[in-house]
Amino acid sequence: MSTYRYLYGPVPSRRLGASLGIDLIPKKICSYDCIYCQVGKTTNHTLKRKAYYPTEAIKKELKEFLEDPDNAGRVDILTFSGSGEPTLHAGIGELIRFLKEITSIPVAVITNGSLLWDPQLQEDLLPADRIVPSLDAVTPAAFEAVNRPVEGLSVSRVIEGLKAFRERYKGEIWVEVLLCEGVNDAETDIAAIKKVLDEIGPDKVQLNTVVRPPAEVTARPLSEERLREICEFLGEKAEVIASFDTTRIPAYHKATEEEILNLLRRRPETAQKMSRSLGLHLHEVEKYLTQLLRKEKVLALRRGDEIYYEIVG
Ligand code: SF4
Repeated sequence: MSTYRYLYGPVPSRRLGASLGIDLIPKKICSYDCIYCQVGKTTNHTLKRKAYYPTEAIKKELKEFLEDPDNAGRVDILTFSGSGEPTLHAGIGELIRFLKEITSIPVAVITNGSLLWDPQLQEDLLPADRIVPSLDAVTPAAFEAVNRPVEGLSVSRVIEGLKAFRERYKGEIWVEVLLCEGVNDAETDIAAIKKVLDEIGPDKVQLNTVVRPPAEVTARPLSEERLREICEFLGEKAEVIASFDTTRIPAYHKATEEEILNLLRRRPETAQKMSRSLGLHLHEVEKYLTQLLRKEKVLALRRGDEIYYEIVG
């Protein structure tokens, strides 16, 4: 059972391996309010960078985890994320530098990429090994429809930020593009995204679609076939990450999956309640639920503002 407040995992991640998550932002502080967001609706829509959680407390947990001999070899990558946008945390640069001093495990940042125009944030992220920013749309209409950005944030500013960061940053940039049927997947949207991606020049482009219960029911997934077609069009750096086989993921534990199923055999639960009952971080529970949904072992049902999971059969 995890005793950490800001760390979760290691969780299975096809693109990152066994990833120790570092949760920098409380639910739900973000510069976007994406229709597909699995965390829920944004309640604090902002571009303000500050220490939403105390930086020293996060450092203390990181040190403790990394110095524990039981954790040796369990983690492939340290990943900054959050129940919102992690680059809003003003201490992210200090935390990355701290990790670089105490461990050789690579550091990644999963971000919506909306603040990369900020020179201070660019500086903060330079020591990281991999940045995984999103770019779901490049036209104002599609951007507004899918990402619902904070007032005053334009897609051209986001794109300029990505380009400026690419020029300064020597590590890997893997851009994630999440497509929702009928929202940002028109031929014209895809052609425009390709043009901008070609200008940015990321190391990889990762195509995704809605796989977990989204904030809005209007966020519907693309078929795997359509995603593959788009992937081919985007070129050799593109890959589909929307579906994957858990048998290839080292940190996916059958026992944890079984614990979740056991809870659901008693009654339908929300991910939050399961997270509390099992002492697992919400993100970790969500990773397992994604797999269980894919394997059709559970169903997701919306009741009011909450999403409940129910066992199938
Ligand atoms: S950027 Fe991420 S956390 Fe923010 S609303 Fe979109 S999906 Fe949710």
